[in-house]
Amino acid sequence: MKAEKDTVVSFHYRLSDSGGVALGDSGDHEPVTYLHGHGNLVPGLESGLRGRETGDTFTVTVPPEQGYGLHRDLPTQRVPIKRLLGSKRPRPGDVVAIQADDGTRQMTVVKVGKFNVDVDPNHPLAGRTLQFEVELLDVRDATAEELTHGHAHGPGGHQH
Ligand code: ZN
Repeated sequence: MKAEKDTVVSFHYRLSDSGGVALGDSGDHEPVTYLHGHGNLVPGLESGLRGRETGDTFTVTVPPEQGYGLHRDLPTQRVPIKRLLGSKRPRPGDVVAIQADDGTRQMTVVKVGKFNVDVDPNHPLAGRTLQFEVELLDVRDATAEELTHGHAHGPGGHQH
């Protein structure tokens, strides 16, 4: 079965930038599981997975416009340290997760004060060309409930 709209796809990945610098992977964790065709992945990765089948291994190159966007020249934002998820003692250069109205957002710390940090509002991967080495593990039909919710359920997907 091929990855296409309204299928649920599971895969492992290794992510590096265009210079080969490692940026992360699904590692020993559960694979990523997502509902295809519903905007759950960055657009370039989702289109690179389209039409692939279980057992396929391949590399998807994602330019910034199809990934986390271009790096824009934005003013830093001041955020209370208490709104950071996880790290309570951030240092400049750290990537932190911040609770925003529309979910959690990742940003890079520029400056640390006593009660606040100044963050670069760009996504940490903005402006980077990304290379995903993908191993496709499974493709199945989505359930009616998954289609209603717009995301995959179960291990590697939403658990609720
Ligand atoms: Zn759901």
